[in-house]
Amino acid sequence: MNPFDLSGTSAIVTGASTGLGAAITLALADAGAEVLLVDRREQSETVEHLREHGKTAHTFQADLLDPGAPQMIVDAAIKEFGKVDILVNNAGIIRRTPALEFSEKDWDEVMTVNSRAVFFLSQAAGRDMVKRKYGKIINVASLLSFQGGITVPSYSASKGAVAQITKALANEWASLGINVNAIAPGYMVTNNTEQLRANETRYRQITERIPAGRWGEPEDLAGVAVFLASKASDYVNGHVLVVDGGWMAR
Ligand code: NAP
Repeated sequence: MNPFDLSGTSAIVTGASTGLGAAITLALADAGAEVLLVDRREQSETVEHLREHGKTAHTFQADLLDPGAPQMIVDAAIKEFGKVDILVNNAGIIRRTPALEFSEKDWDEVMTVNSRAVFFLSQAAGRDMVKRKYGKIINVASLLSFQGGITVPSYSASKGAVAQITKALANEWASLGINVNAIAPGYMVTNNTEQLRANETRYRQITERIPAGRWGEPEDLAGVAVFLASKASDYVNGHVLVVDGGWMAR
């Protein structure tokens, strides 16, 4: 028995089109899961990659700013697979503006996608998981679940909430066979950090502080995602697993 084998399982990954979500999707599919890729657009390199490798790319278009999206996504997964074993709440947005100029729109949008949708997707999937006494929920948190960040107040608030949602749901659902955990990635090379990496001084300062001496690549999350999605993590509950090249240890 390979405890990391995901054959026969079905998963939902939000924001699967690019970056960390793409790497997580491909890792789960490689481990044997059928994955519903949830994105605002239907086509992406992730979809093409799966098809090129002989796998079925199940897709569902949704905008997580839509309050009805979480239930529609879970309904679509149940229609496609009959069940939801794994939910990866990965989609997220960031807005960089000093606090004095921060708009209500940016505050609300970031909180909606990054934390409201995380809770209501977990609730909708949790209703199916509780019935079957099995489920793995993986939320994508951040180092800003722990730290305040600079000029990203709604992002820090929303990611702090992700860590707390993870622990709150773990407390309620661990005894029902559902593992709720989070991955807190460090500084990773994706669209999310494009603006930050374009700032030469901040880029250098951040790189110098990372003990591993480099920024993370999306693939650095692959094994971690499979671990938290698989039987290997059956006794791991409410954990926020930092994957940051040692940043938080410094
Ligand atoms: P990314 O490349 O910008 O990807 C974000 C994904 O979320 C995209 O697929 C995007 O879809 C999707 N998304 C955004 N808004 C959405 C909406 N309203 N409805 C549905 N999907 C939406 O960034 P990433 O770095 O891979 O981010 C993935 C997660 O990791 C996020 O939660 C982010 O906060 C977190 N994170 C990233 C880092 C890092 O250093 N990169 C560090 C810590 C945590 P579109 O293609 O349609 O925009």
